[in-house]
Amino acid sequence: MNIRHSVTNLQLVHPFKISRREVDQFRQVISVEIDGGFGEAAPARFYSEDVETVQAALEIFDSNLDGDLDAIQAVMDRLECTLPRNYAAKCAVDMALHDRIGKRLGVPLYQLLGLNPKKTPRTAFTIGLDEPEIMGRKAREVRDYPILKVKLGTPHDIQIIRAIRRATDKPIYVDANTAWTPKEAVRKIEELVPYGIELIEQPTNADDLEGLRHIREQVDVPIIADESVKRAADIPPLVGCVDGINIKLTKCGGLLEAVRMIHAARTHGLQVMIGCMIESSLGITAAAHLTPLVDYADLDGNLLIANDPYAGVTLEAGKLILPDRPGIGVVPRESRRTPPSDSL
Ligand code: MG
Repeated sequence: MNIRHSVTNLQLVHPFKISRREVDQFRQVISVEIDGGFGEAAPARFYSEDVETVQAALEIFDSNLDGDLDAIQAVMDRLECTLPRNYAAKCAVDMALHDRIGKRLGVPLYQLLGLNPKKTPRTAFTIGLDEPEIMGRKAREVRDYPILKVKLGTPHDIQIIRAIRRATDKPIYVDANTAWTPKEAVRKIEELVPYGIELIEQPTNADDLEGLRHIREQVDVPIIADESVKRAADIPPLVGCVDGINIKLTKCGGLLEAVRMIHAARTHGLQVMIGCMIESSLGITAAAHLTPLVDYADLDGNLLIANDPYAGVTLEAGKLILPDRPGIGVVPRESRRTPPSDSL
């Protein structure tokens, strides 16, 4: 048995809503340990994964994890041949193997990757969907975060941005989570521009690349693909359709693929955001180690939960501060020595 795994229930501080989903009160992630290295899977139904598929995939991966665990690329190639897709499960394995080797060598992950920890950006803080006045009030309350990411995709999108602009003059990223038609997107973005918007994430359907191209040609705000891009192979078809991509570890299968995506995006002149699901500080800190390579960070998943089992990356005026402990560098929280798990 190489892989140990258990389900962790993450309790949300506030119920969280985006355009295509109902309100969530909690999320489940799967914590993984491989020979002293820790990783986390945060599956999303949108990408056809859930707790059960991750657990089933991990059981299959377990019997394919013999051999040299230091050779992470070879291990991940083997898993890819064994079972297609299932990238949240693969992400947890990739993350655990990186944590393991960092700990064995006594170096933090950013150093293993050859990155300068001082080059981290500031992260955005997400305001989930609600009534415009409530979203405005939330924007006013989150004083410590210098950039807001605002979820849109409702009949009252303009009222939402108006309410938020009444509350703050901070930079705003907008994420429509595929909610608009291309025509509607152009009209709404034109109405939003006077309120000062830094970028628009995934205005329209994930598969509608021509819709994205049309929007990009009509508006002056950078368009960032999220649901349209999962892995490096998805990047070339997006050239000319968007200005940048949003990479998530759980979507792409881990750190190795994320690094490949960053370089593929740069080769094509695209901007790079690194984002997240609702995850503990383990998943968020792993992603944060890559941020010296990106333009935008949206790594607030751990800030939205009330019972984070780990402490890792921290913020100073919104800037991501990487831990310098070996590996991913998270430690169990003082107040909660063991994660709130349902052991399997
Ligand atoms: Mg998004």
